[in-house]
Amino acid sequence: MSDYARPTRLREALQILARSPRPVLAGGTDFYPARAGRALPPQVLDITVLRELRGIVARAAHWRIGACTTWSEVLAAKLPPLFDGLKLAAREVGGAQIQNSGTVAGNLCNASPAADGVPALLALDAQLEIARADGLRRLPLGQFILGPRKTALRPGELVTAVLVPRPKSPAASHFLKLGARRYLVISIAMASAVIEHKAGKVRAARVAVGACSPVAVRLPALEAELRGRRFDASLADRVHAGHFAGLAPIADVRASADYRMQAALELVRRLLREVA
Ligand SMILES: Cc1cc2nc3c(=O)[nH]c(=O)nc-3n(C[C@H](O)[C@H](O)[C@H](O)COP(=O)(O)OP(=O)(O)OC[C@H]3O[C@@H](n4cnc5c(N)ncnc54)[C@H](O)[C@@H]3O)c2cc1C
Repeated sequence: MSDYARPTRLREALQILARSPRPVLAGGTDFYPARAGRALPPQVLDITVLRELRGIVARAAHWRIGACTTWSEVLAAKLPPLFDGLKLAAREVGGAQIQNSGTVAGNLCNASPAADGVPALLALDAQLEIARADGLRRLPLGQFILGPRKTALRPGELVTAVLVPRPKSPAASHFLKLGARRYLVISIAMASAVIEHKAGKVRAARVAVGACSPVAVRLPALEAELRGRRFDASLADRVHAGHFAGLAPIADVRASADYRMQAALELVRRLLREVA
């Protein structure tokens, strides 16, 4: 490697990227396995010591999760029940060593269909804060991941934070993952839900399913069906196969497409029972 940059300030990092776009290295838990057996690229931007990209801060309109916040830091953070689903997802990202290094933005930028953080953050209606040397933009997570290993990031850009808007009403959330065994496993399917409720009724519902389509998706027909309903376990009875029309599961060594579809339906039913 001829040019390994490890800046300590965000401004410096963005100037390096503007001068010579290059792969970004955060926790390295996807970066290195993706390059196993191959030489590392000649130029790398290591963002692990950018303190500006770490930690979770509560602001008036949203929570700001710094891009380099690790999954262990998410688990340790004091957060309201809105984040229960994200914490359950954090606990599923590999084992403790992976959670100590792997970052929230790394999980999103890697754009794996089986990334556990994606459905939880879709259900949280998260936006990405994306910086470049001469500006900043925000993009909803639903528009950021374009396909497997493909994102809307442009050359010279860095994800600096994940923003989670404050809900208008109290909110409950949950996450469920199905794998071939209980721990340390790539998802066959996973689902996450956030339900905002007021006076015993659902004010807003966001439900997302991962590993059952090239990119994790929300289920808008189900979300519309849940709005205005009683906020109790009977929400699960509203779920039917038609709500999953947007999924396109693949068959692979872990499961058949049909099994994944059935699993997604059952996971979402259980999720709604649990969240209520
Ligand atoms: C043994 C093992 C088990 C795992 N188990 C799971 C699991 O169960 N569930 C799961 O979801 N994942 C799992 N992973 C994958 C991985 O740990 C997570 O996706 C993790 O969150 C990646 O974060 P990272 O900081 O290590 O990313 P890195 O590996 O550093 O980067 C990943 C990609 O994102 C880019 N990138 C990183 N940060 C930024 C940024 N701020 N701006 C722009 N681009 C950026 C990098 O260039 C790279 O392309 C596992 C990995 C291993 C090795």
